[in-house]
Amino acid sequence: MTLARRTGWVFAEQYLWHDTQRYNLTVAPSLTVQPGEHAENEETKRRFSNLVEVSSLADELVRIKPRQASREELLRFHTPQYLDALESLCLSGGGLAASKTPVGAASYAIARLAVGGVLNAVDAVVEGRVDNAYVLCRPPGHHANSDAAYGFCLLANGVLGVKHAQQVHGIRRFAIFDWDVHHGNSAETAFLEDPDILTISVHQDDLFPPKRGNLGDMGSGAGRGANINIPLPPGSGSGAYREAFDRVVVPAIERFAPEMIFIASGFDASAMDPLGHMMLASADYAYMMRGLLALAERHCGGRIVVTHEGGYSAAYVPYCGLAVLEELANHKTGIEDPFMQHILSYGGQQLAAHQQALVDAVRQHHGLDGP
Ligand SMILES: [Zn+2]
Repeated sequence: MTLARRTGWVFAEQYLWHDTQRYNLTVAPSLTVQPGEHAENEETKRRFSNLVEVSSLADELVRIKPRQASREELLRFHTPQYLDALESLCLSGGGLAASKTPVGAASYAIARLAVGGVLNAVDAVVEGRVDNAYVLCRPPGHHANSDAAYGFCLLANGVLGVKHAQQVHGIRRFAIFDWDVHHGNSAETAFLEDPDILTISVHQDDLFPPKRGNLGDMGSGAGRGANINIPLPPGSGSGAYREAFDRVVVPAIERFAPEMIFIASGFDASAMDPLGHMMLASADYAYMMRGLLALAERHCGGRIVVTHEGGYSAAYVPYCGLAVLEELANHKTGIEDPFMQHILSYGGQQLAAHQQALVDAVRQHHGLDGP
């Protein structure tokens, strides 16, 4: 029997105060589109946190308080011009930081608190105070560019976590796995030419950002081969994801042998997500998390930091998150996912031929089929 693991849990009430305003994803102004809640509002994360608090995990997790990342820490990835522009936009009361990416007056301060939560999680994991950590931060980060906000994301939480582990702790080799339904462009761009950082993104083909995350995008220069994209067709479910995970993600990370693993954890590939068109159940996230924990045990003393990204189903994100946390902490809460059987009974959950073909193509592209 495996012992319970010490799992760090980073959360702050202020993460819920990042104000994305009453907004819709169409172009304003309009006399025919009624404004409503922005997709990236606080409710999914609030309910995830609430479910954790009413579960037995509340007594198991090791609470880690976030702090605000310093300007110097943000400059490890972002440009000073961008930080200044974002800060003054917020100071002026907020507005659109990028297309579809509204911010409120406190959003820059809260984004710095999100980054600082990741940095504190990295410190706790590397220093051995916890075995792994989950950062339920907001705003999300995996689309943020060095010089601009993008796709609901302000600061590149995960990329800055890796930079911190590199520069403060001297760790060299990282694997970053992004299971958000959208492509992990921030990490791909940041480490495109870096052979010491393996970036893997499994996502819905050509969803967001447009034309990114293609099968043929595999890093450049010295980093060629250290960037893997798995653009699954819309409608992919349990069978397709497990095939991609078992036959691409696991062997690629095994071959790479990282010293630390980062996960960009969006739950928008779930069957209930309004922005994605995939069909995962919470059990599928637990399956991937177990596999990643086994890889981390073999290669890097179990060191994993998970940063929360997208996921827009207020009803379902909490159960996906709880399933991942249960694996991280090796602690079963006994709470049942009330939607799981329904989702797993959907037609199309089995691996289909066109999904298999995509996974085969990725394997071939990255030399995972052997010589
Ligand atoms: Zn997403």
